[in-house]
Amino acid sequence: MKAVIVKEFKEPLCIIETDEPETLAPDEVLIKVSTCGVCHSDLHLADGEWKHLLKIAKPDLILGHEIIGTIEAVGDEVKELNKGERVGVAWLHWACGECEVCLEGNENLCSKQQITGLTVDGGFAELMKAKASHVFRIPKELSSAEAAPLLCAGVTVYRAIKLADIKPNQRVAVFGVGGLGHLAIQLVKRYTDEVTAIDISDNKLDLARELGATKTINAATEKVSQVLRKIGGAHIAVVTASAKTAYDDALYSLSPSGTIVVVGLPAEPLTFSANALSAREARIIASSVGTRQDMKELFELAAAGHIRCHIETRPLSEINEVFSELKSGKVIGRIVIEMA
Ligand code: NAD
Ligand code: ZN
Ligand code: ZN
Repeated sequence: MKAVIVKEFKEPLCIIETDEPETLAPDEVLIKVSTCGVCHSDLHLADGEWKHLLKIAKPDLILGHEIIGTIEAVGDEVKELNKGERVGVAWLHWACGECEVCLEGNENLCSKQQITGLTVDGGFAELMKAKASHVFRIPKELSSAEAAPLLCAGVTVYRAIKLADIKPNQRVAVFGVGGLGHLAIQLVKRYTDEVTAIDISDNKLDLARELGATKTINAATEKVSQVLRKIGGAHIAVVTASAKTAYDDALYSLSPSGTIVVVGLPAEPLTFSANALSAREARIIASSVGTRQDMKELFELAAAGHIRCHIETRPLSEINEVFSELKSGKVIGRIVIEMA
């Protein structure tokens, strides 16, 4: 089969012909991949930026964790899924279901979890294996290309915004209008009309306004914290940007007792002044992808038309060009790789 592997981190990805996945375990399914979204996390990994995660990366790794495909075969113990069904696979490949956090409903934090496109092969390939317990049936209302980004970008911001507990009429700032951010704006609008979008590209800010942002700020040309503080500051700053500087802007943009929601994952540590935090009684919360329950709730919203991914499709042969475009900030919304 055709697949894209990481031979060396920081080097271009290699498009190769390789063996199809070996025999299925009893709890696994084999999936013929049709589409797979390209997440900035794939880029952080390929660039070798997340050093702590490289230690658990599978050798000759196939990246990709926003996967839609059809079931080709099922393991002996799989009863609920059948050949030919359309399914999705997310970053959370498997969780134990038995530890304290799993039992509390936070399987995304399970210390035994397997991760698609990191500890096991992901979706930039014609075929892949997945755990039957953690694949999702895709609502018929969504095309495969539209559904793919929901599996990481969508579920991540869905959970983050749920944890942020936004009250009606609160002022919310979404930092970064990329794959995650453009979906975050739509989800925040369900709680409040007061959404400011911040990015460093005017094209992305145009998309933000189309999606309902009431105000936009270009962080490359404007002083974000000044603009936001003039309107009272943000009660909640959801940071989906992959750059650390967005977090610096976010802190000084908060209203008193405002909250920063950590979603974007720059490689370098965040630095916040204790005085600046204290003076605002600021709070910092963080969020990590989502659970199967979060995914189910998001698919229901998407099937009912409440959230729509802005997508562009590209063939697998252009994967390195797509990664370069994502790195240089040229991608509007999400690029989804189509296998055939
Ligand atoms: P993306 O490249 O599509 O979007 C990032 C956006 O941030 C771009 O539009 C870029 O122009 C903008 N940006 C860059 N610098 C900025 C600045 N200083 N101020 C405002 N905006 C700025 O990336 P994505 O796929 O949306 O992923 C975003 C981040 O979220 C990545 O770091 C990714 O690894 C992370 N992520 C986190 C989780 C999680 O569970 N916490 C899950 C998925 C992705
Ligand atoms: Zn992702
Ligand atoms: Zn567990």
